[in-house]
Amino acid sequence: MTADSRYDLTIDQLATLLEDQPAYRVRQVWDGLYQRLLAPTEMTDLPKALRERLDREAPPALAAALHLTSASGDTDKILWRLHDETTVETVLMRYDDRVTVCVSTQVGCAMACGFCATGQAGFDRHLTTGEIVEQVVAAARIAQPRRLSNVVFMGMGEPLANFTHVVAALHRLRDDLGLSARHLTVSTVGIIPGIRRLAAEQLPLSLAVSLHAANDRLRNELVPINRRYPLAALSQACAEYREATGRRISLEWAMIAGTNDSDRDAQELARFARPLRAHVNLIPLNPTPGWPTTASPRRRVREFRDLLDAAGVNATIRANRGVDIDAACGQLRARHANTASVTLKRRCDVSPEAG
Ligand code: SAH
Repeated sequence: MTADSRYDLTIDQLATLLEDQPAYRVRQVWDGLYQRLLAPTEMTDLPKALRERLDREAPPALAAALHLTSASGDTDKILWRLHDETTVETVLMRYDDRVTVCVSTQVGCAMACGFCATGQAGFDRHLTTGEIVEQVVAAARIAQPRRLSNVVFMGMGEPLANFTHVVAALHRLRDDLGLSARHLTVSTVGIIPGIRRLAAEQLPLSLAVSLHAANDRLRNELVPINRRYPLAALSQACAEYREATGRRISLEWAMIAGTNDSDRDAQELARFARPLRAHVNLIPLNPTPGWPTTASPRRRVREFRDLLDAAGVNATIRANRGVDIDAACGQLRARHANTASVTLKRRCDVSPEAG
């Protein structure tokens, strides 16, 4: 593909594309893309020939290879095929008070966290700004008539390893799609230079750090990048982020039976979280084919939460959403590795898997 995808174009590049048109067209098309969430072919206020030319010269980046809706109807998962035949996932979650989309930032991931399906598959390439933004636009269209309110960068990939494109996408989401920066969350494995650069962006984003272990020995195993950016330095970077942005950090903790769910783990986590006044999200591990561990039992997750509570740390147990549609962490792509290249445009309800 030679042309830039439609959400990769800056407004200046769009203006160049529309050089032969009256000047007001630039704003008209830009608003069509970002305010009305329309494809050029749907912009009926444009001359037909122009619609067709824009569709060709500013093509979409994403084609749905698979679109699943959970049996409850509150979660959608889309597997996108990109121009180079690689695939990434987007998940849309409808709650009573908000509608959240979880976007991917890379095809695969180089961070190699053993329990993560994307990490198991390795790194392919970065997504472009347009490939990230278009996931949000597509989700906002699916969410209609409800309004998409939140974006979490918790899909495939490590956002801070694709810093330039991710930050450009964040600006686009706030400035052009009109989302509040407070409703944008970047989740990182803990890339310290990225956290520092993000703090300097003057965007009051929410930052989530995937901690999973609060001693270096265990974290080196679970989150290998910890060898380069160990806990003491990570804690310092989180404190600086909080100071610079005024935003509270949240810490992600996948609950893995017999691995990071002991009383001692809770104490170590509390010692890490308390000085940062961080909020902890406890997520029962989603089992993946390449990692021989299971989620902590429900009762243990609650006890762990209570231990944190007693130690003065706020913690929320996060429900697994869309388990019936492999909505967790690269699982849809892993499962459909063989079907993803087949043109399969369907939308279906699937019922929970047995066992
Ligand atoms: N690379 C970024 C964002 C993508 S992963 C990061 O690491 O934060 C989003 C979150 O899902 C991270 O907290 C990650 O550790 C967690 N995660 C990955 N695989 C998981 C699994 N199998 N079960 C539970 N959480 C998982």
